[in-house]
Amino acid sequence: MLECDLPSGGILRLSDQVLKTFHRFRQDTHSKFESGGILLGRIFENVVSIDQVTTPDSTLDKRGFLFFHRHKGRAQGIINQAFIQSDGEQIYMGEWHTHPQKNPQPSWKDKLEIKRAFRKSRLNLDYLICIIVGNQDEVANIWVGYCDEQGIRQCTQCSA
Ligand SMILES: [Zn+2]
Repeated sequence: MLECDLPSGGILRLSDQVLKTFHRFRQDTHSKFESGGILLGRIFENVVSIDQVTTPDSTLDKRGFLFFHRHKGRAQGIINQAFIQSDGEQIYMGEWHTHPQKNPQPSWKDKLEIKRAFRKSRLNLDYLICIIVGNQDEVANIWVGYCDEQGIRQCTQCSA
């Protein structure tokens, strides 16, 4: 498990299973494409728990490009199914993708896309989480961002 402080004051918690998935898809060799998907989580008081993430679908998602080229219909179907199966507890929390970088940082294009995704999702959430996974062999090698109407900020004090 890994926890970060949210700029809004709460705590973001990433489950071991989620961290394992990030680790498995990290771009640690040149032959690995960029991977990504959506983040699903639950909110309980001031704790936001990301407990499920989607991984690339080789037939629908266009890999090797930005994660935002994932298949929109497939992602929406997964979001709807999770919402129903959890009685409305598990919701869309944001996006993740890999970078072949030691110190993962969002590109300017990533920032534009996060803001665009936030504007589209405003009806359900007042912020979005964006995670970028680095290529190092350690679970804390991730950049965690928080996007709201004030812009994008990095979540601090990630600790395993
Ligand atoms: Zn990126």
